[in-house]
Amino acid sequence: MNKIILPTNSHWGDDLNREGLPADSAIKDRQILYNVFMQAPALLCILKGPDHIFELANEPYRQLIGNENPIGKALKEVLPELGDQGFIEILDKVYVTGETFTGKEMLVSLNTAAEESRQHYLNFTYQPFYDTNHIIEGIIVYAYDVTEQVLARETIKESEKNYRRLIYGMPAALYTCDREGYIQLFNEAAVELWGYTPTIGKDLWSGSWKIYDEVGAELPLDQCPMAIALNEGRVVNMEIVIEKPNGERKNIIPYPQPIIDNEGNVTGSVNTLIDITEQVLARKQMQQVAEMIEKLFMNAPAFICTLRGPEFICELVNPEYQKLYGKRKLLGKKVIEAIPELEGQGVLENLTRVYNTGEPYVVTERLLYLARDEGKEPEPTYLNFSYQAMYDAHKQVSGILVFGYEVTEQVLAKKKGEENLRKILESLPQITSASSANGTSIFFNRFFFEYSGLSREEATVNGWNSIVHPDEIDEVLSDWEICKQKGEEFYKEIRLKRKSDGVYRWHISHITPMKNKKGEITQWIASATDIHEQKTKEEKKDEFISIASHEMKTPLTTAKAYLQLLELSLDKANEKANLYTKKAILSVDRLKDLIAELLDVSKIQHGKLNYNFHVFDFNEMVRDSIEGIQHNAPNHHIRLSGTIPVMVEGDKERLQQVIINLLSNAVKYSPDNDDILMELSLENQQIKVCVQDFGIGIAADNLHRIFDRYYRIEGQEILFQGLGIGLFISMEIIRRHSGKLWAESEIGKGSTFYFTLPLKREG
Ligand code: ADP
Repeated sequence: MNKIILPTNSHWGDDLNREGLPADSAIKDRQILYNVFMQAPALLCILKGPDHIFELANEPYRQLIGNENPIGKALKEVLPELGDQGFIEILDKVYVTGETFTGKEMLVSLNTAAEESRQHYLNFTYQPFYDTNHIIEGIIVYAYDVTEQVLARETIKESEKNYRRLIYGMPAALYTCDREGYIQLFNEAAVELWGYTPTIGKDLWSGSWKIYDEVGAELPLDQCPMAIALNEGRVVNMEIVIEKPNGERKNIIPYPQPIIDNEGNVTGSVNTLIDITEQVLARKQMQQVAEMIEKLFMNAPAFICTLRGPEFICELVNPEYQKLYGKRKLLGKKVIEAIPELEGQGVLENLTRVYNTGEPYVVTERLLYLARDEGKEPEPTYLNFSYQAMYDAHKQVSGILVFGYEVTEQVLAKKKGEENLRKILESLPQITSASSANGTSIFFNRFFFEYSGLSREEATVNGWNSIVHPDEIDEVLSDWEICKQKGEEFYKEIRLKRKSDGVYRWHISHITPMKNKKGEITQWIASATDIHEQKTKEEKKDEFISIASHEMKTPLTTAKAYLQLLELSLDKANEKANLYTKKAILSVDRLKDLIAELLDVSKIQHGKLNYNFHVFDFNEMVRDSIEGIQHNAPNHHIRLSGTIPVMVEGDKERLQQVIINLLSNAVKYSPDNDDILMELSLENQQIKVCVQDFGIGIAADNLHRIFDRYYRIEGQEILFQGLGIGLFISMEIIRRHSGKLWAESEIGKGSTFYFTLPLKREG
């Protein structure tokens, strides 16, 4: 750059102003220069000397610094705020080095009288000037204020940034491309959809995709909405499928928007792509569900029909439902008009109730008379079906869903089966009756009427009640109630009054539940077998045993007393005589025990077995019992475990009788195995006693009968002595203590007898 040389000691403005006229041509030049300087649209000033004294400042400059006349003052003085903005240093450097400094869009903060601080962006040069001796004399400052441009550009930048942010953050894919389809701008979502990051200006919008139409046919590129927008400036919205480089397919709706210039030419396009893959999937799934429902509806082995509104208009009818009515037209008709024979069969009433209450109606084996085709007479049809309320969007009942299946064949077959059964029961020479699952009498055989002399009506109303002996009726009724609740068999000896002679004859009555395949009780069959003769014989036998036992008691006591006297009077040396006497006493004792047992049985029979309840130590009683048994069975080992940690209320002697019976049975029926375990425990406020042996065991068939009076398992009579009454008495005693007695056993492996007693009072 050429060096600028200004006249030394020149007094630009002042000189001219003072003298008024130009002296010569140099002055004239200076005048021109001055005018140019002062009127220039730029900011100009001349700073002189190392302190940068204002030599000259044009109007725009003066305005910028807000100082009307800085001339003659140092820069630092006029604009002290520049001190820490680095400008003074730059000026100093220019002054010292003579190197011109150019600044672009440099921010200057100026304090003016009006404002604290004002910011300006300036383009400027600091250019040194020289005196005639080529010595730097000062600096010419030449500046443009570009604040407005800078700010405007920044505003644009900011808004562009915002737009970009908006575009990048958009969840939908968005890109722009130029006229040829080259990508110019894109966001993250578009990258995701392309499956790669395109190079701006190099890659085409369609670069990575295969494109298909909605139904999966390949779509030529020029028919894609983006191509149409670019080529024809036209917007088409259609669903397309794109296949990404990884083979993944996406359902897309593109929204291309051509960019058109002032002349109406397409210069590019903005495209937004909405990924609707999930929605399409959901739509397909919905379609599938709908198809499935339709298939189900059409092919269901059940009849389904929907009845719309309170008039029950047949809206949907599946083939199975139509089958009930042949070719009769049902669709769109009121149900009662389409199937008029339903009138008076309670159907409309049931439908109305479901419609009004919303409560479903379910019925099995409902008999309806239906005309099975056009012009046919109604015929009995058995149906299992339900009415279910259907609701509208406002949760109001809007119709009824009828669902069910025909069971005519099954019902008729069942009825036939029942008929056969009825015939068999009819011919039985036994009192027999049948009642429904809830116990309502539905059938009595001929023998029942012959025996009881009751009329059909009387029998239907009272069943057996009026012929059961008054002493037994209460127990019979309560036991029967329990059986009904539990679904168990009823088995009882009862007396039933015979009409012909007015005698209450003993019968074994037996009520058995009949169950269907699902295990539900469908009927109860009751029968009574006359056992009067056996029973009276048994009673006579009991009576005999009772009298005989009584009669034997006194002579036996006397015999024992004499034997004891004999024992005392015997010579101790006569061992044999002593031994025989001892054995005789033992036999008499055994006989006494047997007679006592027989008397107990007879007392039980007459309800006269007395009990003497008191509080006692159960453990001690058990120990005494074991000791007694162990004494007579030295080869067996009875091992006791557990204790009862509380005092027990009960009849100690009778409970001891039970324990002795169980232990002596355990000993008796395990001749080859000497181990016997006895366990005491307290569980849920109940005493539990368990006696286990490893002897001959009991077959499952006999298990429930061993507690019967005089019952002894067949074939064991010779091997094992006994009367078959010990367990019968034990059962009675335990029952009177409100307890339970039962046995578990396996033949050849041994038996375990249990009894429980509820704890009455802790002692
Ligand atoms: P019995 O005097 O005949 O033993 P019970 O009433 O005590 O009379 O027993 C009835 C029947 O039960 C016995 O005849 C026997 O067949 C069977 N029984 C009782 N206890 C046992 C046992 N622990 N092991 C095998 N069988 C037993």
